[in-house]
Amino acid sequence: MAKMIDLRSDTVTKPTTGMLEAMLKAEVGDDVYGEDPTTNYLEEKVAKLLGKEDSIFVASGTMANQLSLRAHTQPGDEVILDRNSHAFLNEGAGGAVISGVQFFLLEGNKGILDPLKIEQAIRDPNNYHHPVTSLIWIENTHNRGGGSIYPPGLVKEISRVAKDYNLRLHMDGARLLNASVALGIDPKEYTRYVGSTSICLSKGLGAPVGSVVAGDREFVKRVRRFRKMLGGGMRQTGYLAAAGIYALDHHVDRLAEDHANAKLLAKAIAQLDCFRINPKNVETNIVYFRVVEGKLNPGSLKDELRENAVLVHQVGNDYFRAVTHLDVSRQDIVQAISILKRVVQKLTL
Ligand SMILES: *Cc1c(COP(=O)(O)O)cnc(C)c1O
Repeated sequence: MAKMIDLRSDTVTKPTTGMLEAMLKAEVGDDVYGEDPTTNYLEEKVAKLLGKEDSIFVASGTMANQLSLRAHTQPGDEVILDRNSHAFLNEGAGGAVISGVQFFLLEGNKGILDPLKIEQAIRDPNNYHHPVTSLIWIENTHNRGGGSIYPPGLVKEISRVAKDYNLRLHMDGARLLNASVALGIDPKEYTRYVGSTSICLSKGLGAPVGSVVAGDREFVKRVRRFRKMLGGGMRQTGYLAAAGIYALDHHVDRLAEDHANAKLLAKAIAQLDCFRINPKNVETNIVYFRVVEGKLNPGSLKDELRENAVLVHQVGNDYFRAVTHLDVSRQDIVQAISILKRVVQKLTL
């Protein structure tokens, strides 16, 4: 059978031989006792990369978000975030259940929030009818926004608002390194403005498992407490941390290839008149596109592509997503484009 070109998500990557070798060689210990040298090294490495005092390895991006929410807030607090945030859309109402917080949702531009709108959303702390605003939450790159990049200057402005109102500011940086690579800047150009952040090792970076949350020592200490509470204290995590270290050493710069591949794919999709897409909106590795009504039956597109060894994610009835990553080469993208053209020809009404 032909190799599947899996564009559903950048989470589908499998460890490379080099990564597996690094995992095999990892020195491990009991991380709950703080005795896993490889995990400790990863945590130092990420803290340094992101310019923070400390960091902590966690099981997933969702866990990173839930622990960060919990560590920054008290039950009854309000958190300001974009209405298409991962933390709102895709985490099973964890914010309400685990942290007891309420979300104040704003409409971002491709998920990017306007500092003025944030300021207007902050509650009056002296009015006891109101919840207490305690946290501003931003996502970079923004997943549902189409892998959109926060301009660092805007993060600086948002940090000014946070400071003025004595609020905390967290960046869900699942794909923060995609943003910094795309702009050609040090990730610290972002993280210097936020109190805390996280990165996913298991997306475009290609590790099988894991995220890392970074912030000041006090915050990371709270995250560690809640991680244990939720059963996220794991033991010989060094095998997983080794994969993360390998990913950070070998798979960051190459994210630029994923971005170029996404652009190529977006431009090809734009040339097919049954789809609606603005290739200019494809800033990193995520490509969203819509089927134009009446041109094509969106119901059969995904299945027909799958028949031809291309997998995409159907986000909504006529709304699709393709994501480029470590396991998709330039050649695979060229191949996927030619398959897509063939499938479109077959399905055109
Ligand atoms: C994928 C993702 C997460 C969650 O990561 P998982 O490891 O899948 O739990 C959180 N935030 C953003 C922006 C994401 O894209």
